[in-house]
Order: sequence, then structure tokens, then C-alpha cells
Amino acid sequence: MIRINRASLDADLALKLFTRTEQLKITDAGPSAARRAWRGASVEREQLRLTLRRMSAAIERCMYCGDSRGTDIDHFEPIKLSPFRTFDWMNHLLACSCCNSNAKRELFPVDSAGAPLLIDPTMDDPFDHLRLILSTGTYRWNTPKGQATIEVFQLNRADLRRGRELAFPRCQAMLRDYLRLQNSGNGRDAVKMLNALHEQPFADVLHAMYRTMTNPGADIVLGGPEVLEALHVSRP
Ligand SMILES: [Zn+2]
Repeated sequence: MIRINRASLDADLALKLFTRTEQLKITDAGPSAARRAWRGASVEREQLRLTLRRMSAAIERCMYCGDSRGTDIDHFEPIKLSPFRTFDWMNHLLACSCCNSNAKRELFPVDSAGAPLLIDPTMDDPFDHLRLILSTGTYRWNTPKGQATIEVFQLNRADLRRGRELAFPRCQAMLRDYLRLQNSGNGRDAVKMLNALHEQPFADVLHAMYRTMTNPGADIVLGGPEVLEALHVSRP
């Protein structure tokens, strides 16, 4: 999971969402009515999906696992708990069906003060709460928010761990290729390689590599300043 910059909505869509929310409030809609309204808002949903896809890392990846294609609009705070937030742009994220329908579903843990215990990648920097062990592809948590996020999204499920574990040497190999092309004066192919590196799934692996290099206590040496510069391109 990496930090995602939330885009601004165009005025037309923002007005449509505002109107939808007002309708829910006027009719004091509960979760069932809000879900019906959501299902009926096909134009708004399609516009939202396009905007979320442009925001996501790599090529339309899920904002939670970073592996699968983001197909679903997830209500970060579930409709069941907050029907009036059904059309709230700040409550929309792009998720794969596995993260959305199998893992998170309507789970939304909060702390004793009522604050969400899940990381919202458009509000939080996930790496403030999580750390990724590059050699195994496993997430560890730094905070209770990180712990709940790993549990709810099942971020350490076997396929994701293995995918990240394999992405690490692949990213290293692509970095080496990029530097070789750059140093041999083949600038056009170097740029292609760098773009390929930053559009591969598991953008979190690339971010963890960057974090490792900027951490004074890092125990993995990935290269010199030229590697840091190449990784930096992906920083939001
Ligand atoms: Zn996912």
C-alpha cells in the first residue's frame, strides 16, 4: 500500500454527488435506500471510476493490495455505517474485488475515540504505519492502525507475500538494466526501462526500496545516488 494523491473532481460530477447526498439526507435514507441510490447512479459511478483509475498507482491497480486490477469503488466508511457518505468523494477508493468483497467487506474498526483504525492511502502515508520486509514480501506493523489494516485487508495473504518477494529482485534487475542503458548513452531505452519499473504492480516494493535507502539504519545496500534518483521518480 502506498500514498495516493486524491484528484479534484470536475465541477459537473461534484455537483451531481452533492445533489445525491442532499437527496439521501432529505429522505433520511438508511443503508438499504442508500445502496439502491448507489446502484441507480450508473453515470456518477462510471465517472468516479475513471477518476480513481487515473489516481491509482501503476496501471489501475487496487489502492489496497497494489497487485490486482482495481475494479470496484470501495466505500472506505461502509454504506451500512454511514449511508450519507455514499456519494462522498472523500469516501471513495479503488479496490480489487478480493480486497473489497472478500477481505474488507463492511469491516471498519475504530479506536476508543471513534477514529478509523484502517489506513486511508489518500489521507495517510501507509509507510508511517507499516513496514515491508523486502526479502520475504511480508508486512509488519508500526502502529495499531497498521496492525488493523494488515488484518482487515489480509495484506500478508500468501499470494501477495510471494508476489512482493519476487517483485523485489525483479525491480533490482530492472534498475541495473536502467543504469546500464543510461551509462552506455542509450537514453531512449533507459527511459523506457524506468517507465516499466514504475508501472509494474507492487508499487509498494519500489517505495519500500526507497525508504530502505533513505533510512540511516538500513541493512540492505541497493546502490548509490543514481539508484536513489531512479527510485525517487515514483515518490508522490
Ligand atoms: Zn486489492
